[in-house]
Amino acid sequence: MSTIEPRTFEPTRRVLADRIILVTGAGAGIGRAAAQTFAAHGATVILLGRTVEKLEAVYDHIVAQGDPEPLIQPLCLLSAKEDKYLEIANAIDVQFGRLDGLLHNAGILGPRTSISNYPTSSWQEVLQVNLTAPFELTRALLPLLKKASDASILFTSSGVGRRGRAYWGAYAVAKFGTEGLAQVLSHELEDVSSIRVNCINPGATRTTMRAQAYPAEDPATLKTPEDIMPAYLYLMSSDSAGLSGRSFDAQDR
Ligand code: NDP
Repeated sequence: MSTIEPRTFEPTRRVLADRIILVTGAGAGIGRAAAQTFAAHGATVILLGRTVEKLEAVYDHIVAQGDPEPLIQPLCLLSAKEDKYLEIANAIDVQFGRLDGLLHNAGILGPRTSISNYPTSSWQEVLQVNLTAPFELTRALLPLLKKASDASILFTSSGVGRRGRAYWGAYAVAKFGTEGLAQVLSHELEDVSSIRVNCINPGATRTTMRAQAYPAEDPATLKTPEDIMPAYLYLMSSDSAGLSGRSFDAQDR
């Protein structure tokens, strides 16, 4: 097992060569940067997201760079049902026969309000997109991940998923759940497969969600999604094989 610090990982140009990696929320923000970065390091990326035009723009960027041609998988994590996840798993199985990486990145913020004012409908939506959908997608894809030699499942957490903070409501609760799901799954898989399961907290990063959460903040003071990619590359590459059940930070902040 490697002891490298993910944040300072120095990837080789082809560190993800021949790996098949699915990224959720691949059309914007951190997911877009991850998809483009993984492709730039040799991976064939399955771009999953709810807005096809955004996924197409990422596709065009990757192809224009001369990187492996990605696939577009439109899916709304709020409304998707089990049959859709199984359909996606079947399509990947037919095309590739395995899956080497799964980055659960898509998420929504929900209302920044107190528990006493939190609408039940918003609560259910945030838990659905941020926690239940990753669980269902993972369950459907596990047979394909088991077919890879050293697959990596990476869940996206947050600082408020480790210590609760006022007015973060269902978002924080879902991130606590994400950390729990990753730990449970990691433990279940440790003696029966080579799949590793970890969490990553991106930290304060210049995206639409961050601007929504902190409207008064100057985005120029924040790391960009591209800045935080070393940790993502490390956790998706064979360099992190054997490392499981951990929760990492992608940056200091
Ligand atoms: P963005 O809002 O920029 O991007 C979120 C992505 O999730 C978009 O691609 C969006 O698609 C997609 N998405 C949202 N709802 C759905 C849905 N129902 N179905 C499918 N896709 C959906 O957020 P970030 O890039 O900032 O966040 C990425 C992850 O990082 C999230 O899990 C977030 O919680 C976490 N995080 C971010 C931090 C930050 O500072 N930015 C800090 C800590 C954690 P579309 O563009 O089509 O709406």
